[in-house]
Amino acid sequence: MLTLCLDIGGTKLAAALADPAARADSAALLVYSAKCPTPQGGDAEQVWQALAALIADAVQAAGGAIAGVGIASAGPIDLAGGTVSPINIRAWRGYPLRDKVAAMLPGVPVRLGGDGVCMAVGEHWLGAGRGAGFMLGMVVSTGVGGGLVLDGVPYDGRTGNAGHVGHVVVDPDGRACACGGRGCVETAASGPSMVRWARENGWTAPAEAGAKELANAAANGDPLAQQAFRRGTRALAAMIASVAAVCDLDLVVIGGGVAKSGDVLFAPLRAALSEYAGLRFLSALRVVPAELGGAAGLIGAARLAGL
Ligand SMILES: [Zn+2]
Repeated sequence: MLTLCLDIGGTKLAAALADPAARADSAALLVYSAKCPTPQGGDAEQVWQALAALIADAVQAAGGAIAGVGIASAGPIDLAGGTVSPINIRAWRGYPLRDKVAAMLPGVPVRLGGDGVCMAVGEHWLGAGRGAGFMLGMVVSTGVGGGLVLDGVPYDGRTGNAGHVGHVVVDPDGRACACGGRGCVETAASGPSMVRWARENGWTAPAEAGAKELANAAANGDPLAQQAFRRGTRALAAMIASVAAVCDLDLVVIGGGVAKSGDVLFAPLRAALSEYAGLRFLSALRVVPAELGGAAGLIGAARLAGL
């Protein structure tokens, strides 16, 4: 029997099958995976049909032998009702995702979790967070997301949304954020935010250039690109120092597209952290790159489903 794991995001939908026999090996764990772009601009049913097709294919690949389902969904979510309202999937507001999936697989237990929590759980289980007691797992890409593992246990919070670190306010008078708030770290440190700042300050790369190109420019010594990363990573460091102080963390694991740029992100981030994380109990805080890449959410969802 295999575990079906789903990862629901604003850019792509993914389904995978996890094999309990390979539960100690992140490279062998997922024996099947498929993904598709998240339908844009359509209605709730259109998004569901795309996901339902992925589920049907995975169930067929498993020969119908599914022991459990774990879902990692972009938030906000509502664990009590099993509904999701991802900021970047506008067609789904209070969408009954857990029940819809359960109806396709009668009698199979379905567990829902936030994508940030699932990423943190995946990294804590089989990735860079192994053995950590108090860990923040976070992603820096189109947005900034995260999840907490506290005392070795995933921390959902009251509604399933604990660990939404992208919306920690780091500038009380800052830009309006897509969440409805203002000055969130996501408005300064996400890939698109750093690119926007660079362009506003004279970065002349072609219109299609994004965070990857900005990171390459910074790595090649472009002072403006480096300044954009310094600015973004200062905001990230302020958030990390704050969350670490609140939760008494020992480890922060960072994944996502922007984190793939390596030292371009981590060097200024660590420098800024040494400025903000002044408390003595934070001196042992480590900030490391994620190890599982884009599979972290799926692997965490499998763990959530009991693997
Ligand atoms: Zn926000």
